[in-house]
Amino acid sequence: MIRILLFGPQGAGKGTIGAMMVDKYGIPLIGTGQMLRDAIKEETELGKTAKGYMDKGNLVPAELVAGIVNERVQKENKGYILDGFPRNLEQAEMFDQMDDVDYIIVFEVPKDMSLYRLSGRRTCKECGAVYNVNPDGFPHPKEEGRCDKCGGELIQRDDDKPEAIEQRLKTYQRETKPILERYKHKVFTLDATLPVDQIFEKTTEIIDKKEARK
Ligand SMILES: [Zn+2]
Repeated sequence: MIRILLFGPQGAGKGTIGAMMVDKYGIPLIGTGQMLRDAIKEETELGKTAKGYMDKGNLVPAELVAGIVNERVQKENKGYILDGFPRNLEQAEMFDQMDDVDYIIVFEVPKDMSLYRLSGRRTCKECGAVYNVNPDGFPHPKEEGRCDKCGGELIQRDDDKPEAIEQRLKTYQRETKPILERYKHKVFTLDATLPVDQIFEKTTEIIDKKEARK
């Protein structure tokens, strides 16, 4: 059983590394958004309650999100990788009542790099495909300002504009620090400015070394 929580600001490459870990360890990468959508689709009790809030345009309460996470992780007997939960200390405390965790992997990126990576993000107005127009961005559109898939115009979404990104990074710093304090002895911090394959290598090194001793 390997239970991993991923932490890191947006633009740190969590999604990419997470997907590589899914392949290596054969455990699922679970994001909170997807989990909520699944619970609603499967019409679990909690899913139905969550839908009630969302239909009215309200935020799903932290306790309910925690319940849905719990419902899901209990089904995974080989373990899991959680991304986007717990988001704050309140959720971390709830999570402690439900399950134990083995690794907290933190992808650390300086603010400037996070801002730079996210500032290159462009979204197709027509089909929603996401690109990165920075010289080292990936995937880079073949034709400037046009979607490879449908030819639609590429735009910068409001929440990818510098002020919005800055705000999100601040929230992340403020809410995440206390969580990391709480799990101190399980926290592993990685330099996410390194190339992806090196970050992945370091991540698996941490896990494999500790798992070998179990
Ligand atoms: Zn498109």
